[in-house]
Amino acid sequence: MKEFNLENLVRETVKALKPYSSARDEYVSDGSEMIFLDANENPFENGVNRYPDPQQRSLKLILTQQNNVKEENILLGNGSDEVLDLIFRAFCEPGQDNVITMPPTYGMYKVLCGINDVENREVLLTADFELDVAKILEAVDTKSKIMFICSPNNPTGNAFSKRNIEALLKAFNGLVVIDEAYIDFSGIESWVASLSKYPNLLVTQTLSKAYGMAGIRLGICYASKEIITILNKIKPPYNINQLTQDRAMDRVVAQKMVQSEVERILEERDSLVKVLNKLDFVETVYPSDANFVLAKVDNADKRYNELLKAQIVVRNRTNQPLCENTLRFTVGTSKENQKLIAILKEMN
Ligand SMILES: *Cc1c(COP(=O)(O)O)cnc(C)c1O
Repeated sequence: MKEFNLENLVRETVKALKPYSSARDEYVSDGSEMIFLDANENPFENGVNRYPDPQQRSLKLILTQQNNVKEENILLGNGSDEVLDLIFRAFCEPGQDNVITMPPTYGMYKVLCGINDVENREVLLTADFELDVAKILEAVDTKSKIMFICSPNNPTGNAFSKRNIEALLKAFNGLVVIDEAYIDFSGIESWVASLSKYPNLLVTQTLSKAYGMAGIRLGICYASKEIITILNKIKPPYNINQLTQDRAMDRVVAQKMVQSEVERILEERDSLVKVLNKLDFVETVYPSDANFVLAKVDNADKRYNELLKAQIVVRNRTNQPLCENTLRFTVGTSKENQKLIAILKEMN
């Protein structure tokens, strides 16, 4: 294949775009006492009367230290969903380009294809939920801009083999987005460590899962300076609000607390897996590198409704490809898990 060239992937309209310049872009505070009369804000202090930092520098500074990257390698979004949408809009020409996904996987990639009028080429995972590298590469053509690899994968729970992901990174001339929403629950190393090796790699993470902050909406994208510069150009100027920046900073510095919650969730996951494996109506419990477990049961609709009657809501994945009669169980607190286990044991 020919050499990777980012310029060839960016939409012409994005290349030509002059980004919005906000008051906080044009005058960046150096910490000295200034009177700010440049953004039409209400001057009476209440903690949020000022616009937030459009580049979220304080929060990014912590992330640079924790992940051994530079600020220029980070873009923050209103959840990873906004990050993923920005990636589509920067690189995929509506009605012309295509992206490749590997179902069963996170449903948002397909929705974003619909929103952005981009063809979704789907290449099923193998029967053991691994990437089918040869088939994926067969699906690639000159209009293929992005591959979305969710690892650990939702809803199957497994992380994909490093060798397969590496093969795709090397063979594909478009962008490879590795969605690491569940990375903190797995023992595997983040692909962020490989950014300098692969100019076509983007890694997305989120505070919504292990960090316990789904409510503040904070997604993270790590990539080369060149890719981040393009995404920065099209992001809404103040996409991360002040409350989110403040809460996120408090949390990302509390690594011990996050780590201990992750450990407790993993212990609960393992006890749930043990119980599921013993139940007659459970046929397969798939290995998980995440905070949820996918299990194949005798009749997913029936079991889903029985759990609902017991006031427990799980995710019925039976309509996903390769997932017939599967349920996805998120791991809750010890108390919630005990209740779930008690109900499961009564079912027959
Ligand atoms: C939950 C999840 C996300 C998180 O999305 P946010 O918008 O950051 O809440 C991203 N990717 C996958 C695969 C997920 O399961």
